[in-house]
Amino acid sequence: MNAKEPLKVGPWEPNLDRALELAMQLMRIPGPSCSEAEVVAFIRAKLDAVGVPMEAVYVDAANKMSPAGGDTGNLILKLPGTIRGPRRLLMAHLDTVLICLGCSPVRIGNYVESANPESGLGADNRSGVAAILTAVLEIFEHGLPHPPLTFLWTVQEELGPFGSRYVEKRRLGKPRMAWNWDGRGPHRITLAATGGDTLHIKVHGIASHAGGAPERGVSAIAMAGLALHEMVTKGWHGDLLTLSIPVRTFPICSRPFCGSTWTVRTKA
Ligand SMILES: [Zn+2]
Repeated sequence: MNAKEPLKVGPWEPNLDRALELAMQLMRIPGPSCSEAEVVAFIRAKLDAVGVPMEAVYVDAANKMSPAGGDTGNLILKLPGTIRGPRRLLMAHLDTVLICLGCSPVRIGNYVESANPESGLGADNRSGVAAILTAVLEIFEHGLPHPPLTFLWTVQEELGPFGSRYVEKRRLGKPRMAWNWDGRGPHRITLAATGGDTLHIKVHGIASHAGGAPERGVSAIAMAGLALHEMVTKGWHGDLLTLSIPVRTFPICSRPFCGSTWTVRTKA
């Protein structure tokens, strides 16, 4: 059925059994950060099978920009709307952490677990990947009307997140709203979060004999200590503000280095 045909049937429900099966199939695919190509191939095949025009599918060059490299960029699907409305972006990340390699998902009652006790499940974020893939499949299979939509499956979230940091933004079609399926259940929405960054700083002192000319020496560790002290006291770690909204209270940060991990190496 063509996505432009109007919905002919009455109340519509997504195929949740298929959604779960997709999530479990995706969990079986090894795809840690920088090795997501097999997951991308799986999604492309699913899109192709329901008639998604392949010219609307694009793999960007985020892996060429990322310091971590990687075997694929982000997967982007951009669809024009069949009804008017602001463009929505739906996204999830493709990579899992390394412990999920070798995952063997099994369903036990209402839960999915890894049968392999040595591996994690990889539900982060293959369940999100399956959720938005299900949305595309349902739209094309049932000809559901929809506003302009962009689907974005990012790489290397667990590292940086390098995939979204280096995404080719011009390929996204300027979405006005975005939802990222990488949190907890659908009952909870996260509106903001503090970020993190890692800086490696080398501090070199000036060597001088402690007995002969101690006044000419400069201590690297003392300089690093003073710099760290100034960073904290002058607010370079961020000014933590509290923004109250009717639903809940959460912290926001006005500086880019909030929550940073600082590695200071000193020499001399
Ligand atoms: Zn995640």
